[in-house]
Amino acid sequence: MKNSPELRTWLDDMKLSHPLVIAGPCSAETEEQVLKIAHELKDSDVNYYRAGIWKPRTRPGNFEGVGALGLKWLKKVKEETGMKTCTEVANKNHVELAIENDVDLLWIGARSTVSPFIMQEIADVLEGTDKIVLVKNPVNPDLALWLGGIERLYSANIKNLGAIHRGFSTYDKTKYRNNPEWQLAIEFQDKFPDLPLICDPSHITGKRDMIFDVSQTALDLNYDGLMIETHTDPDNAWSDAAQQVTPSRLKQIMEDLKIRKETETDSNYRTSLENLRAQINVVDDQLIELLGKRMKVADKIGELKKENNVAVLQSRRWNEILGKMVLEGEQKGLSEEFVLRMFKAIHQESINHQEKIIKE
Ligand code: PEP
Ligand code: MN
Repeated sequence: MKNSPELRTWLDDMKLSHPLVIAGPCSAETEEQVLKIAHELKDSDVNYYRAGIWKPRTRPGNFEGVGALGLKWLKKVKEETGMKTCTEVANKNHVELAIENDVDLLWIGARSTVSPFIMQEIADVLEGTDKIVLVKNPVNPDLALWLGGIERLYSANIKNLGAIHRGFSTYDKTKYRNNPEWQLAIEFQDKFPDLPLICDPSHITGKRDMIFDVSQTALDLNYDGLMIETHTDPDNAWSDAAQQVTPSRLKQIMEDLKIRKETETDSNYRTSLENLRAQINVVDDQLIELLGKRMKVADKIGELKKENNVAVLQSRRWNEILGKMVLEGEQKGLSEEFVLRMFKAIHQESINHQEKIIKE
């Protein structure tokens, strides 16, 4: 599958001068809402209009979508604005109804990708289709599950495929709604370099003011497009209110994003450099996140030492850590001098944290 020339064709055929843009509300709420948003997006970079009809909510009791009725509204969007349409499908019945109603692109949601049963059911009913099918990453950070879902569709002779990165659930609270785990998406690109990859910053961030930054990171990492939830009255949306942006904000985002695709003026060198820099930024963020975590643990040790009246500095333990890290560093190509300097700085910061706690 890695070298399948047909995989990229649908996107190349679109001959876009900008990344692919999928936008529209999280959920179709009313006919009026669906059409109003669509008309405001009509003269923009938006290539596909999205709206969720069947809404998989993690817990019952929330708005779960208008159902098949919404497909008629999507049809009207196409008639009135000329925009192509897309929606999420999660079973055979959804697929049949969406095709019957002429939806152009189908995506499979994060809660479906986790289930090989659902993926197989959808692959079977779509067998041989020329519809574009995009597979969101599964909710849990499991690369094999994501790849497996795509392979099931590919084996069913579905060639207009792509993937959507919407971030991953974590038990730890982070600043994201769904942690991007960029590293995992970079590995995904390595495995399937020919597969168009779209970023969904709305579900990654959960907050509208973080959408621009995540979109820019995605473009710097050579993603092919963006899916951004858009609503004319975001605060009163029936689902995912905090993360939706207005159509005018979306247009501004698209204008401000630096699109680093190769052009005559933008040499190979610049593109590669920006890509590598974006990878470095991802790793740096992870370093800071991990160091923060380490200091939280150090704080807890400080509390324990305080309760038990034990000295902050435990040299034997510290020398053990240093020896081990020098050896491990060596295996990763890091010099002894660097590892020692770095760990001394980390150790000093830990001691400062613990002393602060003990003096409190
Ligand atoms: C959505 O796109 O509205 C959606 C439900 O997404 P996800 O499957 O990523 O949660
Ligand atoms: Mn949503």
